[in-house]
Amino acid sequence: MVSLDELSARQIAAGVAAGDFSALEVAKASLSALDAREPQLHAFLQVSAGLALDTARATDERLARGEEPGPLAGVPVAFKDNMHLVGTCTTCASRMLGGYESVFTATCVGRLLAAGATPVGKTNMDEFAFGSSTESSAFHPTNNPWDLTRVPGGSSGGSAAAVAAGEVALALGSDTGGSIRQPASLCGVVGLKPTYGTVSRYGVVAFGSSLDQVGPFARRVEDVALAMNALVAPGPDPLDSTSQDCRADFLGRLDDAVEGRRVGVVPALLEAEGLTGEVKAGIALARRVLEDQGAKVVEVDLPNIASAIAAYYVIAPCEAFSNLARFDGVRYGHQEEGCATLARQTALSRARGFGREAIRRQMLGAYLLSSGTYDRYYYPAQQVRTLITQDYERAYEQCDVILMPATPRTAFRFGEISDPTQMYASDMFTISNNIAGNGGISVPLGLGQESGLPISAQLQGPAFGDATLLSFARAIERGVDAGLGPGKGAPVALGFIGKGGELL
Ligand code: GLN
Repeated sequence: MVSLDELSARQIAAGVAAGDFSALEVAKASLSALDAREPQLHAFLQVSAGLALDTARATDERLARGEEPGPLAGVPVAFKDNMHLVGTCTTCASRMLGGYESVFTATCVGRLLAAGATPVGKTNMDEFAFGSSTESSAFHPTNNPWDLTRVPGGSSGGSAAAVAAGEVALALGSDTGGSIRQPASLCGVVGLKPTYGTVSRYGVVAFGSSLDQVGPFARRVEDVALAMNALVAPGPDPLDSTSQDCRADFLGRLDDAVEGRRVGVVPALLEAEGLTGEVKAGIALARRVLEDQGAKVVEVDLPNIASAIAAYYVIAPCEAFSNLARFDGVRYGHQEEGCATLARQTALSRARGFGREAIRRQMLGAYLLSSGTYDRYYYPAQQVRTLITQDYERAYEQCDVILMPATPRTAFRFGEISDPTQMYASDMFTISNNIAGNGGISVPLGLGQESGLPISAQLQGPAFGDATLLSFARAIERGVDAGLGPGKGAPVALGFIGKGGELL
């Protein structure tokens, strides 16, 4: 009996290619894990069982005909619900797009399917990706698999939880200010936000177009590398003008030695308000793990990083306001009936279709882009963006990667953070990287001694240095595998631990 708790994506693809088990058996294993775990977890907005079984059968038939089944043959994959896939709905977890059926497939989704992956469904998220807890989904919250009373992080919380719980081997998310790395950290899985322009965004519902980037979640670094190969292999996507030619063998470079390479640390960041002792201890451990493998630690400075959240919450709402204008209840989205005028219909459709945070972001964007205000906020925010980008450029003259926390603390309880600005602070370690456009990865370190919840390190790298990032992440993972993790010492289990720690 195939179990996703024990198999990595790479092992699944190898097993399917070798005929050890069929893609259909793996798809059924994923669907039965979903049956068993979704009632507690709610990671999915839609399970595409028929599509999964049909795709898996087609993979098995290709194999039977002697054809190459692809590097992701039979690997069950979930997609964040802001990614289009024909045969599914794409709702962005919003009433505005409730029941909206995709009419085309996003390039990132299509590339994983072309590599042989099995599409199992669409995962929950904060509405239109605004948030850090998945609580703003219009449909239901998602529970953290390590403690069902806590959030999985966000906005790609469903993707992170589904991977952590062994429902799927791989998932895609999107990261505008931290939405891959932050939930990966809170759920104890690996999550990569590649450099802006690496993965096509065609067919991914836009939030902040100068910040958005798609990336993979998996439980092992090598699976993230495997997914990256499939995402970039066909070359740049002519349908996304920001897409670059990033063809590389991420998997082949995974075991590049870190010996003699330089890890930057930013001492001021480790004194940040809100950073817990447990997470700080985790970063010290990750540093030691890298030093033990011969990496050199150098101190670097990112003097403008403290302004990153402020700059982001000007730039991102402005871009979101512009992108979400298309949801007017006529061309797209929820439409209120029986209104006397078109203006009334648009106003009501938008007021009732969007949730609170989506409305807050758009009002903020409308205000910030109005004349007078634009000069006071938008323009300075763009200047801060340049300063932060230059800070990173200078830092990467001295080091190959920068090590820092992914999140200030472990997973919080539902409703614990109700003040929006406090929620925005959850991304204090991730946002600056989106502002600069660089890559970043969350790597699990194990369970914290005090909280018993997953703790991660984040590695950030220079633009298009994502293969290097993955090799450093792998070096940390090697240390954690060897039992060097904090607290319980064990690597993050390939299992599903529910409330109270029992294995479900
Ligand atoms: N939490 C941040 C926000 O709310 C980032 C979200 C994201 O990366 N999609 O905007």
